[in-house]
Amino acid sequence: MSARWPGGTHYPVAVVGGGQAGLSVSYCLRERGVEHVVIEAHEVGHEWRERRWDSFCLVTPNWQCKLPGFPYRGTDPHGFMVRDEIVRYLQDYAAHFRPPLVEGVRVTGLRRSPAGIFELATTAGDITAGQVVVATGPYHTPSVPVMAQRLPAGIAQLHSSAYRGPDQLPDGAVLVVGTGQSGCQIAEDLHLAGRTVHLAVGSAPRVARFYRGRDCVAWLDEMGHYARSIDEFEDAGAVRMRVNHYVTGRDGGRDIDLRAFARDGMRLYGRLTGIDGRALEFGAGLAADLDHADAVAEGIKDAIDAYIAARGIGAPDEPRYTPVWRPPPGPARLDLAEAGITGVIWCTGFTRDHRWIEVPAFDGRGYPMHWRGITSTPGLYFLGLPWQWSWGSGRFEAVGRDAEFLANHIDASRRYADVCGTLTGAPAELTTALPVG
Ligand SMILES: Cc1cc2nc3c(=O)[nH]c(=O)nc-3n(C[C@H](O)[C@H](O)[C@H](O)COP(=O)(O)OP(=O)(O)OC[C@H]3O[C@@H](n4cnc5c(N)ncnc54)[C@H](O)[C@@H]3O)c2cc1C
Repeated sequence: MSARWPGGTHYPVAVVGGGQAGLSVSYCLRERGVEHVVIEAHEVGHEWRERRWDSFCLVTPNWQCKLPGFPYRGTDPHGFMVRDEIVRYLQDYAAHFRPPLVEGVRVTGLRRSPAGIFELATTAGDITAGQVVVATGPYHTPSVPVMAQRLPAGIAQLHSSAYRGPDQLPDGAVLVVGTGQSGCQIAEDLHLAGRTVHLAVGSAPRVARFYRGRDCVAWLDEMGHYARSIDEFEDAGAVRMRVNHYVTGRDGGRDIDLRAFARDGMRLYGRLTGIDGRALEFGAGLAADLDHADAVAEGIKDAIDAYIAARGIGAPDEPRYTPVWRPPPGPARLDLAEAGITGVIWCTGFTRDHRWIEVPAFDGRGYPMHWRGITSTPGLYFLGLPWQWSWGSGRFEAVGRDAEFLANHIDASRRYADVCGTLTGAPAELTTALPVG
């Protein structure tokens, strides 16, 4: 057994993943005196350091970074940390409470023995645990459509997680596919660098950055939007799959208005539907998708207006948005060579990969069956899933709240197991698997 393991080969709790979620639950377990280990495949801050581009910054304001015991304490609470500041925030968090962290070790398999003990296979040998928190993030495998294989060999192509900056791509025009957070921000990054950008637009909604004197996030927070739990929605499954609203924190924060990009020279199309030799084919939904994104943004403003009016809040009036560009109707085709496109960036998201978890805790789509992170397998928990409990569950905003909840549950399970062990004579690690209450 490797000397890496700080507490031997059995732990009451093993936390898999040392990102913001894993660190948060570690902090909460430490506070409750629960012995545990945090196992991180790389090092703290890895996802932010290695899978975000050079100009990346948060979309959510810094004051929403409220990791347990370590809320944002910098000088710019209404600003947006850039990539390296986010990494430092996480490193400082780890230095602040020194979690029992083992870095550079990947958990490659997780099983539960008939006696209810979790067996973890790792790249540094096998360990066991009474309870396990899976905090490995929601974004595992870059998702690229199969049609990417049909691009001519000379075209450079990469996924958004591998994009660093405009200079990474050969000279020429760039096609960006997808308009979630990543696609919009990467398209803007290239556009600001003077590159000709062709953008295949999807159905993501947008939100204004500021409205009536404040960041819309501040209004929505005050309106209780981020406190709403998933249990309040009838279509919980659909809510969890929703695409984020696009907006940016760049240069102090501003709207992302794709119509304004088009007015300023970016070429906009509908969804990329096919690649046929050198020709790209785009669907006819561009106008509808732009209208939808604007309607969502204006709908959020309506809600803010209503809130302000109902409470008689003194907030400056602000004119509403008027579209600055409209697309021509119909589908579109584009010849790669004629357009001078030399590179394609797939901003088409990620898929989850939990195949290493050999425990029947997943539904037919591979999504963990859980309530607030507590799964149907006693002693197995998830943390950091988007909308695990609320809007901020997969973000800095509320991962700490979810961590506190799980830590309370884990602590209660442990105490319950101790009592059962005392009464029955069974070792505590055999009874932690029993559900509480
Ligand atoms: C482009 C983009 C922009 C975002 N912008 C914002 C934003 O503005 N504001 C915000 O609050 N959130 C934002 N998020 C969402 C969220 O904050 C991040 O995804 C965050 O990284 C999630 O933290 P986590 O700890 O849950 O997971 P991760 O940061 O992914 O950490 C998981 C850790 O687990 C490790 N790991 C994985 N598998 C194993 C294994 N088998 N064994 C051991 N270790 C393992 C990984 O190495 C990693 O370090 C953004 C996400 C993306 C992708």
